[in-house]
Parts: sequence; structure tokens; C-alpha cells
Amino acid sequence: MDIALATRNSKKAEELTRLFSGLGVRFLTLDEFPDCPEIVEDGKTFRANALKKAVAVARFTGCLAVADDSGLEVDALGGAPGVFSARYAGIDADDKKNLRKLLKELNKFPGKSRGARFVCCIALALPDGHYKTFTGEARGTIGRRPEGENGFGYDPVFYPEGRSMTFAEMSAVEKDSLSHRGKAMKKLYAYLKKSL
Ligand code: IMP
Repeated sequence: MDIALATRNSKKAEELTRLFSGLGVRFLTLDEFPDCPEIVEDGKTFRANALKKAVAVARFTGCLAVADDSGLEVDALGGAPGVFSARYAGIDADDKKNLRKLLKELNKFPGKSRGARFVCCIALALPDGHYKTFTGEARGTIGRRPEGENGFGYDPVFYPEGRSMTFAEMSAVEKDSLSHRGKAMKKLYAYLKKSL
């Protein structure tokens, strides 16, 4: 069975096809559907953004569609950067600028009040508008300086609960076993296994 992914990132499609290989599912990117319109991520929650993308792609392609949205919520910042995680430092933001801004905003907060969580919501939608969502969360704390070279985004400052290493100091496999995305993915896998 083919599932359309609401992304043009072929690495994501290859990774999912490999991870879900036991299910006989092939993931297609939007490159296979060049006329699919861009979907603006303007929702107030990760779930709203993931759903908007999955429902639009399922309608357009006529296939089952999967979309995700994720980000970091910091307790001391009232949940920021949240859905703005990718563009926290402004329109020309990149991972480095976002990280610098986060550390600056948290400068006055001591270790015990630097709690945060990563959240990932994955939406699965049918062409007829039916859908289901799967959410994963990873709690942890934000360090004072970046450590580690792996991963992306806020990984170098995020210490998952109970660990003294950041996500960026871990292997991809180790991060997947603890991460918000890994947990949401596991739920999607279990659901597809049961339903297909
Ligand atoms: P997206 O949902 O994958 O596009 O992620 C949105 C933004 O959230 C990214 O640009 C990162 O800044 C942040 N983010 C989401 N997941 C992670 C993660 O696993 N590690 C670090 N940053 C993340």
C-alpha cells in the first residue's frame, strides 16, 4: 500500500519505508505529486498543523496520507517556542540562531526551573476526510550550553529526563528510543499493523 507523506524530503520517506518495512507500506513524498499545493502551517497546536497537512494531502492525492509537526515547549517560557520552534529567532532563523535565542531567554533561570518537553504529533488521514492522530512527548531540561554534534534543532541543549547526555550526544537509535518522534512513530506503527 502507498502512503503519501506531506513532505518533499526523500530521506524521510526512505527512513519510514525502512522502519515500516514489515507492513508492506511504501511512503511517497510530494515530489510524486508535483501539483499538490503548498500547505501553510498556521495552526495554534502541533496537532492542528499535522492534521491540516495530512487531510489536504489525502484529499489531493487520493491516498492515505501522513503528516507530522513537532517542536519544543519550555515551561519557564509559557510553552514557547512551541509551534514557532523552527522560526523562533525570526524569518531568517536557523538552528544556531534559534538555539542562541533560547539560551539567552533562559539565562536568568536556574537549573531546576529549566524544564521542557519535545512534542510530536503525527496525523494519518483518509481521502474521505477521516483521520487519526498520534502524539509522543519527551520531557527533559535545557542545559546552559550546547553539547554534542548529532541531530538537529535544539538537540544540543536538551537533556532527556534521567540522562546526563543531550540528544545531540546520542546515536540516532538511542535518541529514537527516547524521543517524541520515536514515541509517536511507534503508536502509528502499531495502529497500521493492526489496521492494514
Ligand atoms: P518539524 O516539525 O520537524 O518541522 O520541526 C519543527 C522544529 O522543531 C525544528 O525546526 C526544530 O527546531 C524543532 N524540533 C522538532 N523536533 C526536534 C528534535 O527532535 N530535536 C531538536 N529540535 C526539534
